[in-house]
Amino acid sequence: MGEVVALPDGVQAGSPGHLLTLLRAGSASTRPQLAAITGLARSTVAQRVDALLATGLVIEDGATASTGGRPATRLRFRPDAGLVLVGDLGATHARVGVTDLAGAVLAEVAEDVDIAAGPGAVLDWLGAHFADLLSSIGRSADEVRGVGIGVPGPVEHDSGRPVSPPIMPGWDAYPIPEHFAERFPGAPVLVDNDVNIMALGEYWTSFRRSVDDLLFIKVGTGIGCGIVASGRIHRGAQGAAGDLGHVQVPGYEDAVCRCGNVACVEAIAGGQALADRLRAAGHDTRNARAVVELVAAGDRDAIRMVRDAGRTLGHVLAAAVNFFNPAVIVIGGDVANAHEPLLAGIREVVYQRSLPLATRHLRVVHSQLGDGAGIRGASAMVVEHLLAPATVDELVTTAAADRAAN
Ligand SMILES: [Zn+2]
Repeated sequence: MGEVVALPDGVQAGSPGHLLTLLRAGSASTRPQLAAITGLARSTVAQRVDALLATGLVIEDGATASTGGRPATRLRFRPDAGLVLVGDLGATHARVGVTDLAGAVLAEVAEDVDIAAGPGAVLDWLGAHFADLLSSIGRSADEVRGVGIGVPGPVEHDSGRPVSPPIMPGWDAYPIPEHFAERFPGAPVLVDNDVNIMALGEYWTSFRRSVDDLLFIKVGTGIGCGIVASGRIHRGAQGAAGDLGHVQVPGYEDAVCRCGNVACVEAIAGGQALADRLRAAGHDTRNARAVVELVAAGDRDAIRMVRDAGRTLGHVLAAAVNFFNPAVIVIGGDVANAHEPLLAGIREVVYQRSLPLATRHLRVVHSQLGDGAGIRGASAMVVEHLLAPATVDELVTTAAADRAAN
C-alpha cells in the first residue's frame, strides 16, 4: 500500500482528478502503482487513466524497467497540454509572462506601466503583451487554459474585483476577469493582490515539497505580507489577511502613516520612510531603490538605518511568529535587495523575541525569485485551480459527454 494522500473536501478518492494529483506529485507513475495507492480495482484504474489520456493532460511515456514481471507503461503528466498567461501589475512597473502547466516560464517581458492610468488602458496594454508573447513562441490563444493577474491592492478573489485600492484610481470594483472573457473563452481569469501571488510564487518554486506554512514579507515602498497556511494562500474573511504594514510600533508616534494612523511599521521601516529620512539627513534618496543603492555603495547612515528598520520589522514579525508559527519567512521587495543589513536586523529580534519552540527550525531567508516571484505565483494560482481534482473530474465528465454526443 502506498502513502496516504490527503484529499480536499468533496473529492472522491481514486477519481480521475485524484489520480492526476498522484501522477503530478510523483507518488505513482504506472497503473499498478495507482491501483496499489488508491485500493481501486485495476480495471477501474485503467478506465480512469483512459479518461485522463483523452484530456491530453497525461501521456504514456515508455515502459518502466522490468523487475521480474511484465514492465508497466509509464504515465506522465504533460505540462505542455496548455498555457497560462500571467501578469504582475505593480504601481509603476509590470511583468507579463506565458507559462506551461508546470509553471515553467516560456516567455516574459517587464516594462514600466502606470497603474493609475486606469483599468481600460492598463488591461488593454496587458492584453497586447499577452498576444505578443504568444506569437513570440509560436503558440495560439486556443491553447490558453487560464489567466492569472496580480494587482497592487486588495482584491475580492472570488469575483476578481479590486476593493477600494488606495493606489489604483478607477479600479474600485472593476471586473478584471470580464475584460479577458471574450478573448480567451472558457479560460478562468483569477486575480489576487500582488503580495499574495509573490508569496505563492516563492512557496511553489522553493518550499512546497518541504514546508506547509510560510510568511512572505514584501518590503517595498510600503510593507505587506502574504500568508501560506497548510500549503494554500490564507486570505481571511474579507481578503485583508496579512496587512502587517499597519501594525503599530509603540515609541514612534511622530511617524505619520499614509493610512492616517501614526507609528505604523510601514511609516517607520518601509522603503519610502527610509528614503524620506535619509533625504532629511542630506542624501539624494527619492525612493526605496535609491536607499538600496546607497547601502550597496557602503554608506554607513543607510546601512545603519536599514538594519534598524530590520529590527523594527523584527518586533512585529516576532509576534507573527508566535501567533502563526511559520517554518520559513521569506523577505522580498525592493528594500530586500539590501538584504544583509535588513535580514541581520530582522533575525536579531525575531530569534530573541519569539518563543523558542516557534523558532527552533525557523528560517528567515532572502527572496529566491526577486522580481520574478509574482508571475510564478500567478501561474501557480491558476495551475492549482485548473488541475484541482474537482476541476479535472468535471473536465473528464464533460469530455466524455461530448464524445458520447458526437
Ligand atoms: Zn498605516
